Amino acid sequence: MASPFEYSFFDAVVKSFDKAAQFTSWDKGILEQIKQCNSVYRMNFPVKIGDKIEVIKAYRVQHSQHKLPSKGGIRFSLSVNLDEVMALSALMTYKCAIVNVPFGGAKGGICIDPKKYTPYELEKITRRYTSELIKKNFIGPGTDVPAPDYGTGEREMSWILDTYQSMRPGEVDALGCVTGKPITQGGVHGRREATGLGVFFGIREVCKMKDVMDRLGLSVGVEGKRVIVQGMGNVGYHSAKFFRQGGAKIVAIAEYEGAIENEAGLNEEEVFQHRKKTGSILNFPGATNISKSSEALELPCDILIPAALENVINGDNANRIQAKIIGEAANGPLTPEADEVFSKKGVLVVPDMYLNAGGVTVSYFEWLKNLSHVRYGRMEKRFTENMNARIINQIEELSGKSIEVQEKEHIMHGADEIDLVHSGLEETMISATKEIMECWKQNPKVPDMRTAAYIVAINKVATSYAELGIFP
Ligand code: GLU
Repeated sequence: MASPFEYSFFDAVVKSFDKAAQFTSWDKGILEQIKQCNSVYRMNFPVKIGDKIEVIKAYRVQHSQHKLPSKGGIRFSLSVNLDEVMALSALMTYKCAIVNVPFGGAKGGICIDPKKYTPYELEKITRRYTSELIKKNFIGPGTDVPAPDYGTGEREMSWILDTYQSMRPGEVDALGCVTGKPITQGGVHGRREATGLGVFFGIREVCKMKDVMDRLGLSVGVEGKRVIVQGMGNVGYHSAKFFRQGGAKIVAIAEYEGAIENEAGLNEEEVFQHRKKTGSILNFPGATNISKSSEALELPCDILIPAALENVINGDNANRIQAKIIGEAANGPLTPEADEVFSKKGVLVVPDMYLNAGGVTVSYFEWLKNLSHVRYGRMEKRFTENMNARIINQIEELSGKSIEVQEKEHIMHGADEIDLVHSGLEETMISATKEIMECWKQNPKVPDMRTAAYIVAINKVATSYAELGIFP
């Protein structure tokens, strides 16, 4: 089961689970059931690429079905293997539980390097993968709902939707078979930036906690904090953006070809455009090049955001990391060995399966929109605006003073879809942060925030199993 790197990601997840399970009083059988992957689908299918036939390896794992549908992204990467997909599907179960998204956990992956294929070839591979899922009932608005992950995005999701709709004609809720779709195909505003925004909301909440900041020797608030971001994909880019807009300084950005550093602060959009134009993050005007990408993680900073792949901070480099807070925007960027090091050093690790839950939270909003067949805000926006206008008129009439035009517009504004999605996400991340921190405080023996997050997740999933009546 071990991955090609002789490191089992699934074993690492199990290890973290077991560490937390000791602090709960659930029956061993329940814990064992929660830990296991319920359904594993491994497939090989042929796709004609040019004049050759390629056999593509792919997976879909449903870790849990205590709530339906099961939910989780699909990644396209050469590092995809069964162990990784199992681990990621398990993280989805815990993630959904923590943020009260009523789904089971799942994950999928296709073992390809997407950069090696033309869009036409990728479309063929994605459509074939989808039809394999349909054949085995591994996709559907009520069974299992994929989403984007590393190497996939809106384009792939719309291919999945179109394949599903053409093979299941007339299914009224078909739009809910996949999330992370383009807006024109049933997507929801705010899904694209959701994970990065959720990372920001989660860390911002932690930084508001005076006792936590005092322990770390940091000031309260994200303003002025020095942040390093690893990965300029969707999650890294948006995390950097919201931290910068929130008043933090992005002092270094790392990508696989190298890293750049600038104490004065980097603008993620300019860096993104530079990389698009030159093909590399290096030689960005005003910044210093760091040729070995991994060295950027070891630079001094307050907050380190690994936002790429798993296992990047491990027993080898954890001791050299100087950050006081590590926000796991990626899934599984730290190994259990790294956790031990940080726990001893007093570094705060804000764990993946809650911190990066913004994506699945907004996927849930998208799915609800698809099932309700109406966009958020359509029914109440104008009504709210008309009511607010009347209230403002009354205030102006009674007080004899007039409110400034800009302020008036602000007060009158009825919520659009994006306002509601962002507000729902903010509420979700704030509540989850508080719940995990509360659990940690109540159990002084709990060594770290990850263990506290697992305890919260285990309690919720176990309760749900118990309520299903499976374990009387
Ligand atoms: N792939 C994302 C994750 O790991 C999103 C999953 C989803 O939206 O279902 O959380």
